[in-house]
Amino acid sequence: MKIKQELLQHFHYLHENAEVSWQEVNTTQYLKEVLSDLGYKVNTFNDCTGLYADFGQGNPIVAVRADIDALWQEVDGCFKANHSCGHDAHMSMILGVAKCMQHENFKGTLRLIFQPAEEKGNGALKMIEKGIVEDVEYLYGIHLRPIQEIPFGVASPVIVHGAGQMVDGQVQGVDSHGARPHLTVNAIDVMTTINEQLNQIRIDPQIPHSIKMTYIRAGGDSRNIIPGNGQFGLDLRAQTNEAMQELVQKFKQIINGVCTTLGATIHYSIITAMPAAVQNEQAIQFARTGIAEVIGEQNIIPTLITSGGDDFHFYTIKKPQLKATMIGLGCNLTPGLHHPYMSFNTDALEIGTNILTKTVLATFRAQQ
Ligand SMILES: [Zn+2]
Ligand SMILES: [Zn+2]
Repeated sequence: MKIKQELLQHFHYLHENAEVSWQEVNTTQYLKEVLSDLGYKVNTFNDCTGLYADFGQGNPIVAVRADIDALWQEVDGCFKANHSCGHDAHMSMILGVAKCMQHENFKGTLRLIFQPAEEKGNGALKMIEKGIVEDVEYLYGIHLRPIQEIPFGVASPVIVHGAGQMVDGQVQGVDSHGARPHLTVNAIDVMTTINEQLNQIRIDPQIPHSIKMTYIRAGGDSRNIIPGNGQFGLDLRAQTNEAMQELVQKFKQIINGVCTTLGATIHYSIITAMPAAVQNEQAIQFARTGIAEVIGEQNIIPTLITSGGDDFHFYTIKKPQLKATMIGLGCNLTPGLHHPYMSFNTDALEIGTNILTKTVLATFRAQQ
């Protein structure tokens, strides 16, 4: 069967059988079967989904990572697992790499990592904990890009993701009768004050950043009770890890200030924290070579800066010796990532497979 048809077959199967973070059981089984048939040494985990598969032997170890989870979202009025972030495409392309590399001569080990739970922001951390990137020298990832960033037929050797954090908070004030506002600490006052002050945060405007309240809840069915308790959620973005630190520090100052002024108690926790991309020139150079060989120099966007995030960057934060980059692939993706009806030109699957294969080969070649 031609690689193009094979990629589509993988893609359709994985798309139809989408599974959410940490529950990618059937997905892992499918990947395992395909990779075992191709002669890869497959390693699964006894306490979580995902796997890694090796081909070849010895050093260097060059790895390619795909994320494997879908999102839980409303599609046509029903909630379901839905691959609207393109992780089904990433898996298909890396299965394509597995197939293409079968007939190549190289010295070293090709490691294919199929990582669970990217959308939860903690899948990469679990893989690191398992030690599977311990001896890896180069690590590549790939992500479909929305049409607003790049069109079909264009790719970038590096996606410069920003850092992202999500915060959950609880306000503890004092309930009171609607007629006696002087006896209360109104959670709505507390949260709207926080929100106003968050919008006043100033950090270097040359570094893209934002902090927003994305969830707010207080009060019950009785409109004559002033609610003392409430919950809020925040989403923080910054293009650099340093700017993110500054945002977090300022947010903490605001919380402390509002607690003192309004007399509330606030508990909060950072529920997700994804670091910004750490760029490696050597890895980017190999990816650039791979892209040039497949779609030509003229279709390379040197750097793709995006406010989105990916837990891929934990690999380099936790293992600074890793030389890594994530390739951005243009595919006319509309209306956008995480949109319930996200779709893209599936001809990009073959392009992505070829780019990754050429990138990996360029990497092995340079180590000899
Ligand atoms: Zn996503
Ligand atoms: Zn994604």
